[in-house]
Amino acid sequence: MSSTLRTTLHRLLDAPGPSGFESAAATVWREIAGEFATEVWSDVHGNVYAALGSEGAPTVMLAGHVDEIGLMVHYIDDDGYLFVRAVGGWDPSVLVGQRIEVLAADGPIPGVVGRKAIHLMGQEDRDKAVKLKELWVDVGAADGDEARSRVSVGDVAVIRSDTLDLGEHVIAARSIDDRAGAAVALEALRRAGEKGVSVRPVAVATAQEEISLRSGGGARTSSYGLAPHAAIVIDVTHATDHPHMDKKEHGDVRLGAGPVLSRGAVINHRLLAVMSAAAERADISIQWQASPSSTGTDADSIFTSRTGVATAVVSLPNRYMHSPNQLVDLRDLDAAAELIAETLVGLDPDEAFVA
Ligand SMILES: [Zn+2]
Repeated sequence: MSSTLRTTLHRLLDAPGPSGFESAAATVWREIAGEFATEVWSDVHGNVYAALGSEGAPTVMLAGHVDEIGLMVHYIDDDGYLFVRAVGGWDPSVLVGQRIEVLAADGPIPGVVGRKAIHLMGQEDRDKAVKLKELWVDVGAADGDEARSRVSVGDVAVIRSDTLDLGEHVIAARSIDDRAGAAVALEALRRAGEKGVSVRPVAVATAQEEISLRSGGGARTSSYGLAPHAAIVIDVTHATDHPHMDKKEHGDVRLGAGPVLSRGAVINHRLLAVMSAAAERADISIQWQASPSSTGTDADSIFTSRTGVATAVVSLPNRYMHSPNQLVDLRDLDAAAELIAETLVGLDPDEAFVA
């Protein structure tokens, strides 16, 4: 496990960055990239880029999204309670009782997610799944005027949490999806530079993945602008190694068993062959995942960019996705960075990716 990857993660994971409001997290990513990349820049959509090598060589995009799910204040009542809408896909039941941080204009405002106490609920309420519209955020304001003086409609919020080490290899954090992927993209770029490659790798911290399944988000604009020869997307995938998971329905993915490669229509066969060969050469254990149609990642918009981009997805096994405590095994992240760096080493600049 490289110490640079561990440091990158610790700097990235606790920076807030709900979709469309990624700048704090993107700034951290950009600072780390600036320590070794030959060129670093940002675009109007909020994507950040870090390139190595000369412009003449074919570009290989390494994409990890830098946004995370969050909440947005949409109404403040006269008693001073905030009502919020989801930025991305929440299970509202994991929000109950959480501490949050509203990213207000004058700095973060702490709050808690309120709900009627169990004693005050009838049996019907107790048995029902909670909905986001039934929850509120309490910032301790005396009334609406006080709350409105501190918080504005349109302010976003994240869970208030610190990254937690669970034993030697496993960490829990709010923003694993997909700061882990953004960190791996940077680490792969760094290692590619150390190993020496004949392509031009460009890591991209993409914006707005969590809200853009249809529009394509920052992956669409960044891949259009970069016009890469090939792209490797790094995102999390569901580990199925915890209780109550049916492997017949969800497949077999385990934490600590290595990065996951997808097969399916989005994935370019020749790029995948180069990656498999790299895994074998570097003795990296791989897990496999079937993605018969879409992948649910940035790859879905990148692979149809312009006239098509040879694309692959490297997934990081993740327990409890979209919860305040998402788990990953650092050994999987380390192996993913090594796999991508070795793939870049093994890529022939004349590879056309045409089967
Ligand atoms: Zn997500």
